[in-house]
Amino acid sequence: MSDQVEKASTVDVVIVGAGFAGLYLLHRARKQGISTRCFERGDGVGGTWFWNRYPGARCDVESMQYSYGFDDDLQQEWEWPEKFSGQADILAYVNHVTDRFGLRPHIDFETEVRAAHYDESQRLWQIETSLGERVAAKHFVMAGGCISTAQVPKFEGLDDYKGSTYHTGLWPHEEVNFTGQRVAVIGTGSSAIQAIPVIAEQAAHLTVFQRQANFSIPSRNHPMTPEYAGAWRNGYADKRAEMRYAPNGVLRDLNNKSALDVSEAERLETYEARWKIGGSGFLASFNDIMTNKQANDTMAEFVRNKIRQTVKDPVTGELLAPKTHPIGTKRLCVDTGYYETYNRDNVELVDISTAPIDRLTESGLMVNGRRFEFDSIVFATGFDAMTGTLFNVDITGRDGLALTKKWEAGPRTYLGLMSQGFPNMFMITGPGSPSVKSNMITSVEQHVDLVADTIIHMRDQGLELIEPALEAEDAWVDHVQVVAHKTLFPQANSWYMGANIPGKPRLFMPYIAGVGAYRKICEEVVADGYRGFRFETKKAMAAE
Ligand code: NAP
Repeated sequence: MSDQVEKASTVDVVIVGAGFAGLYLLHRARKQGISTRCFERGDGVGGTWFWNRYPGARCDVESMQYSYGFDDDLQQEWEWPEKFSGQADILAYVNHVTDRFGLRPHIDFETEVRAAHYDESQRLWQIETSLGERVAAKHFVMAGGCISTAQVPKFEGLDDYKGSTYHTGLWPHEEVNFTGQRVAVIGTGSSAIQAIPVIAEQAAHLTVFQRQANFSIPSRNHPMTPEYAGAWRNGYADKRAEMRYAPNGVLRDLNNKSALDVSEAERLETYEARWKIGGSGFLASFNDIMTNKQANDTMAEFVRNKIRQTVKDPVTGELLAPKTHPIGTKRLCVDTGYYETYNRDNVELVDISTAPIDRLTESGLMVNGRRFEFDSIVFATGFDAMTGTLFNVDITGRDGLALTKKWEAGPRTYLGLMSQGFPNMFMITGPGSPSVKSNMITSVEQHVDLVADTIIHMRDQGLELIEPALEAEDAWVDHVQVVAHKTLFPQANSWYMGANIPGKPRLFMPYIAGVGAYRKICEEVVADGYRGFRFETKKAMAAE
């Protein structure tokens, strides 16, 4: 690791996190002469891709699109080995970007931000770190990611278990070898669906505990071809521009027909053709899959039939065929050989939908009175998404108001960017922005540019404080829910709805109107003199 530069205790901006968001903000700030401190809990950069090292971890957005677009030389030069990148390749890329732009010396590694208190008298955020350092900042930016607080359910007997335990989102850096072991995987979300086929190849026996089945589409991943990479590189300028206004921040071939307006033969032909292509673009087979239950049912049944055809044991096949939610309303999974894995002799699926795990024991766990013994248990049990990482920091705003208190009935933001009562605090891809319902890099770049431009605007105009107006925030919170309820998303018990964390308020957290629609709203807000925000100047404060 490079030598650290001298670190100031009063800066313009404190950034939490050195993942894709924190790194780009650090780069923008440094280019504009904005002083920063950037704190990262890990001992390396990359955020999600630093922590999620589980076997099979891979991005389901294509490599040519899951990459920064802010620097043309970077996107022209970087070589992606596969259509969909594995974790190690993405981590190598993030490390390259960090060093290419000289960011590493400006990051405090292995340092958590524990508290951030807004000091109204000085209009400064007072930051406290896990190393006991105190730093004052004009602006405080949470860039710690949306899916970065791993959760292990509080199973009874958790501490009694003597074997090895792992969480997919906190995977060890050294290689984990399951050869010869009896392994359990708890959970069947995106992480599990990627890890299970790889673990099954190593383990002597693998038992998968499934609560709700998930829909998964084959990735059809393959080595990158020079023709494909070349077509992207030659067209990057236009393609990136298009991505920024695309519904999910990715270029997808959306079929602009209703699934119900075509004949059954055409519908099946369309699904079949897209199944062959693979990937989550499958959802773009028709334009009403996420808004019309009848249309959705046609796609869901097509996928259930694929699962039934793939899995040889009919009982297992039926258990794996999801029936609890419309397809796409929980994050659509993308896999390599997931359903085929259940045809192996060493893999067993245990349905815990009606009889949950009773408890963990010294040597394994118990379900419905049946005792299982394992050498290792893998928790693929997900994350306290969207709000968990924000709540891990003791954040208090004006009048000592805690963010946890203000958001006790659910996140309250204006544009997913700021919350009233927390002046000069920004969230990158916060709740109420497209965030997890988009290509994260497209959304990260948009938010970072907006935050950096706003800080520069304030500096240039002699403005010292920015805060959303309560009415603007109230209207945005309502709008996010109104838009969500025009879709099928609220019908699922998903982490988008906070349903995976006991006691978490149930409401749809991301903004689902689309990346392009959202970007246009942000552009209009800025063009309209930051409509819905209020600023205070230095002079106004002196007069108080
Ligand atoms: P997840 O989607 O939340 O899945 C967690 C799994 O654990 C679910 O199957 C859940 O069952 C189960 N579970 C949770 N608590 C349980 C309990 N008490 N008992 C039994 N089972 C329990 O988490 P994830 O798979 O880590 O994925 C999180 C998100 O990260 C994804 O949705 C995606 O956005 C992102 N991700 C992306 C990729 C990619 O790009 N390819 C890969 C991995 C992750 P229920 O469904 O019944 O709640």
